[in-house]
Amino acid sequence: MQFTAWGSILTLPEFFDQGDLVAVLSTQPLGRALDYKAPEGGCRPGAFVEVPLGPRKVLGVVWGPGAGDYDYAKVRSVIRVLDAPPMRDELRVFLRRAADYTLTPMPAMLRLATRAPGLGDPPSMRKVYRRGGKEPTRMTDARAQVLEVLEAYGDLSFTLKELADMAGVTASVVKGLVAQGAVDEHDSPRDLPFPPLDPSLPGKELTADQAAGAVLLEKAVKSEVYGTTLLRGVTGSGKTEVYLEAVAAALSAGRQALVLLPEIALTAEFLTRVEARFGAKPAEWHSGVTMTERRRIWRMVGQGNAQLVIGARSALFLPFQNLGLIVVDEEHDTSYKQEDGVLYNARDMAVLRASICGAHVVLASATPSLESWANAEAGKYTRLELSSRYGPAVMPQMGAIDMRTEGLPSDRWISPQLKAEVDVRLERGEQAMLFINRRGYAPVTLCRACGHQIGCDHCDARMVEHRYLKRLVCHQCGESKAMPEACPSCDAEGRLAAVGPGVERLGEEATALWPDARVATLSSDMYGSARALKAEIAGIAQGTADIIIGTQLVAKGHNFPNLTLVGVIDADLGLMGSDLRAAERTFQLMRQVAGRAGRADKPGAALLQTYQPEHPVIRAILAGNEEQFWKAEAQERQQAGVPPYGRMAGIILSGPDVAQVFDAGNMLARNDRALREIGAQVFGPAPAPIARVRGRHRVRLLVKAEKSVPLQEALARWIGQLRLKGDMRVAVDIDPQSFY
Ligand code: ADP
Ligand code: ZN
Repeated sequence: MQFTAWGSILTLPEFFDQGDLVAVLSTQPLGRALDYKAPEGGCRPGAFVEVPLGPRKVLGVVWGPGAGDYDYAKVRSVIRVLDAPPMRDELRVFLRRAADYTLTPMPAMLRLATRAPGLGDPPSMRKVYRRGGKEPTRMTDARAQVLEVLEAYGDLSFTLKELADMAGVTASVVKGLVAQGAVDEHDSPRDLPFPPLDPSLPGKELTADQAAGAVLLEKAVKSEVYGTTLLRGVTGSGKTEVYLEAVAAALSAGRQALVLLPEIALTAEFLTRVEARFGAKPAEWHSGVTMTERRRIWRMVGQGNAQLVIGARSALFLPFQNLGLIVVDEEHDTSYKQEDGVLYNARDMAVLRASICGAHVVLASATPSLESWANAEAGKYTRLELSSRYGPAVMPQMGAIDMRTEGLPSDRWISPQLKAEVDVRLERGEQAMLFINRRGYAPVTLCRACGHQIGCDHCDARMVEHRYLKRLVCHQCGESKAMPEACPSCDAEGRLAAVGPGVERLGEEATALWPDARVATLSSDMYGSARALKAEIAGIAQGTADIIIGTQLVAKGHNFPNLTLVGVIDADLGLMGSDLRAAERTFQLMRQVAGRAGRADKPGAALLQTYQPEHPVIRAILAGNEEQFWKAEAQERQQAGVPPYGRMAGIILSGPDVAQVFDAGNMLARNDRALREIGAQVFGPAPAPIARVRGRHRVRLLVKAEKSVPLQEALARWIGQLRLKGDMRVAVDIDPQSFY
């Protein structure tokens, strides 16, 4: 394991002439930048280049002057400079600092910053395809699939390969449709600029509270000095309206803005709002976006021809030219922490990037993370509060249903009391939502003959039945298999039973309880694509369902105006973990879910089914006393010396051989001088809670330190002692959010 120093961030020359030695950082997993000769015509520092590496050509960035430690005559030349603006110093510094913070090798950081295909291709025209005016003379299944894709995407055009792939047909099917005029083929420049947004269009008329907040944010953005504002306000208070004014301020100052959202499914509604506010749609960057579109966004952001990007966390690594504002909406959301590959928290990285380029950050949430709350308490972040819901909407009535007295049979989860409340809503023609934080049909499949529970072959995890997919799925590694007829352990047939509820099973129970109601089950794996899910959510907002059954996904920011009741099936679920953030997570989730109810003009109610109505977290939720909850939680963490009042790092060693993995862990635990020097403590090694994933054994160590010490530097020295054998790997998770 090597955490190489990538040199200090030097003052660089303006230009390298042909033949000068330059150090090129490539996306290949090398321990250093390699020397090359500058190509004919020279190149600038930061230039994106193509260089030879062995027999291959790879993408790289001119990182600085070459080291010159290699025979000059043998040094190879840069093949060519790509037609893209050089990487700006600000982004180079950001990548370096982010690498240092997360202990990530630089090539992996560069991969994050170049996640678009064909970056090096010269600008050119290409053939694209969209729906034509005619119908095919003869319809086949394959043809229908192509037309369905085109219709689903409206007036968008696709390349031949994209279209064929999306429809699951061969290119000749598309060509056949072109010949008949059902699909239209035309030339288009590869990358088009985004339509300009007009910040001078009028926004909504703001309430006094909102207007005061907007003024504060506008001033902060216009100052062009870094700062962070924690925008806190109950769901529906108009946080989005307020930060759109900050976006307007950035755009009218000629700067770019980035809005991060935690869920792809949320972007549809947001894009519509942006279009209504600024007259055109912004760029949309996330995993559901086509490769062609990614390339276009990457280039247009770099040229300043995309003013606003709405995206997932990786949008932080786009080559903005002049970034003036980053909004992190639902900033407490756990999906901002990337849990594989480069382990970073997009919220923290947003603050880092903004501090380097003089941008303002808005962290928006109804229920901020304790980290952000503490930063605001400490005066590092400015606090901005919106205390009431917009318009007639009021916060929902909160209540608990004590499950100890409801007497439900063990295979039912909707209590009589909750059922009665739903009945009332149905009678009034309103919507009700039942929430359970578990995907699939049932979390456990048990053999009634021998007691065996079906587990994953590669992980220490139970397989979860997904009845909709007719498969058992491992939620750790994604492995799935057909639902067996007989028990894999004792071969008894027909004795396998589903135990416990998942969202699909709850949907089934609801359909049985309310046979005349329209029940919509919202679970990400029940929809073929993010777009299909978006369409379903948009439909529900329009009233296509009476009862909505959902997982976590539905807790996040959607707007269902006719929803007046939320029932939380298992409010205790989050309280059981040993995770240090269990209470915080449950509190946030429950508040968010409850915030779905009563968003328009009808009052809402939220009911929590719980076996522990006396639990302090459940009581804080019911009382709606957030400040009190945060203070109590902060005090506990402070006493325990854990984040945000202390620092932690998780070390995860993994490999196919359990003894070897433990040996490595023990070696680290014994040789902890680098850590002791900064007063840090190491715990473990211990088998990880999920001790085997994808056939790899996992061992964890946990490092705890005081807040002010140089933890990363000590960790790098400490882990640098490891000599990893064979297929063993180590991952360092700074500020771990999950401990699986
Ligand atoms: P939040 O982001 O805090 O959940 P939103 O900004 O989404 O709140 O506002 C909730 C709803 O109220 C949205 O439909 C929004 O358009 C509406 N709304 C908020 N403020 C205003 C306003 N000043 N004028 C008109 N509608 C508003
Ligand atoms: Zn598995």
